[in-house]
Amino acid sequence: MYDPKSLKAEEFISHEEILETLSYAEKNKNNKELVRAILDKAKERKGLPHREASVLLACEDPEVIAEMYDLAEQIKKDFYGNRIVMFAPLYLSNYCVNGCVYCPYHAKNKHIARKKLTQDEIVKEVTALQDMGHKRLAIESGEDPINNPIEYILESIRTIYSIKHRNGAIRRVNVNIAATTVENYRKLKEAGIGTYILFQETYHKESYEKLHPTGPKHNYAYHTEAMDRAMEGGIDDVGLGVLFGLELYKYEFAGLLMHAEHLEAVHGVGPHTISVPRIKRADDIDPSAFDNGIDDDTFAKICALIRISVPYTGMIISTRESKSVREKVIRLGVSQISGASRTSVGGYCEPEPEDDNSAQFDVSDNRTLDEVVHWLMDMKYIPSFCTACYREGRTGDRFMSLCKAGQIQNCCHPNALMTLKEYLMDYASPDTRKIGEALIQSELQNIPKEKVREICADHLEKIEEGIRDFRF
Ligand code: SAM
Repeated sequence: MYDPKSLKAEEFISHEEILETLSYAEKNKNNKELVRAILDKAKERKGLPHREASVLLACEDPEVIAEMYDLAEQIKKDFYGNRIVMFAPLYLSNYCVNGCVYCPYHAKNKHIARKKLTQDEIVKEVTALQDMGHKRLAIESGEDPINNPIEYILESIRTIYSIKHRNGAIRRVNVNIAATTVENYRKLKEAGIGTYILFQETYHKESYEKLHPTGPKHNYAYHTEAMDRAMEGGIDDVGLGVLFGLELYKYEFAGLLMHAEHLEAVHGVGPHTISVPRIKRADDIDPSAFDNGIDDDTFAKICALIRISVPYTGMIISTRESKSVREKVIRLGVSQISGASRTSVGGYCEPEPEDDNSAQFDVSDNRTLDEVVHWLMDMKYIPSFCTACYREGRTGDRFMSLCKAGQIQNCCHPNALMTLKEYLMDYASPDTRKIGEALIQSELQNIPKEKVREICADHLEKIEEGIRDFRF
């Protein structure tokens, strides 16, 4: 029944295979010899299949966990260096016909303020985001064929790309909208989107159907097979995710890796990113009503093991997580974070009054983008506003080849420095700018190829003179 190459949800995410995996992991979690062999295999940095990764997740030996964390940290350094890519979500509309029981946008919620941005309002929101320094957005929308048809999403993407305010520009729009048709994915691809993101929420079919009792999202197979349709529609970069707290985390972890293995088996390229959201308090949602919440240590263990299991896949943490949790997991493998996020529709221009709340969930990190950038640099990370890969056609397997050839340091590293320089020139506070300039000077020396280093230094000077948007 289990077949990673099948295009049927219940065959590539086989319930029986997950159950067998969990029982194998439980049986072997104290099998020192096997755990040692899996760790040694992980050290080859080629990833781990779901069964072996699940044994490590089940293992509770503090020494083994410490070794996992060290390895995750090392893989993160080797593959991603010290760059952290920055983005912000932009909520277009919270009209929704679904009945997701964990989300306040569910159709039965009659008291949440329903909002949908007009194109003029999008201009205002995006101008505010550009004025913070953002270059990369993830657009979010509820599912509603009447209020939020694909034409609305496409028009919004065109509007976003067209706005050029001062030196600002949104250079990459990622899209997190409900599962749709191959034809619509093709339209999104033509509109120039970066990654198509869709969270599975849970891989457990029975729970999935209960958690999505009504609306088109109820269809487990249609939702689970969405990434295959997206790839068929020409989208190379897809982003997976699980909403932790809905089901048993060990089940979700195995399902997530099986999904990644399926994409690799069928399309020759794994997911571009994996997101790891946890359920948060929201309008009429109480996270404690869900039995499967995970504590911060388990969360960190999952992040470290994703890093080890799929080294070439970026990992995203949103402002659902607090500063201290983010600090911990960034070290263990996260490569992208959001900053200064608003989860309400129209929240960037002006804060919403309390009695008119359209937010999807409470954020735990309320800092400004400048504070987040400053904080990252204090920890010696390079905040990167780079969007070069997809604009240079390095998507899907072409991006993976860049990673695998170890050329990231000659490409992503200078791009990070140049986009950070733009941020410092155009948006940073004096203090942030000061530490940023020093960081750029020292990090310039870490570009391996002399020629690339020289070109980068020259571009940095030109940015100082007012020219923008250099990239390798
Ligand atoms: N509506 C789209 C869909 O059906 O996939 C996606 C957009 S939705 C705005 C983005 C994600 O937010 C959802 O996939 C879900 O995982 C997450 N989410 C919903 N309610 C949440 C909550 N209370 N706390 C944290 N995340 C939540």
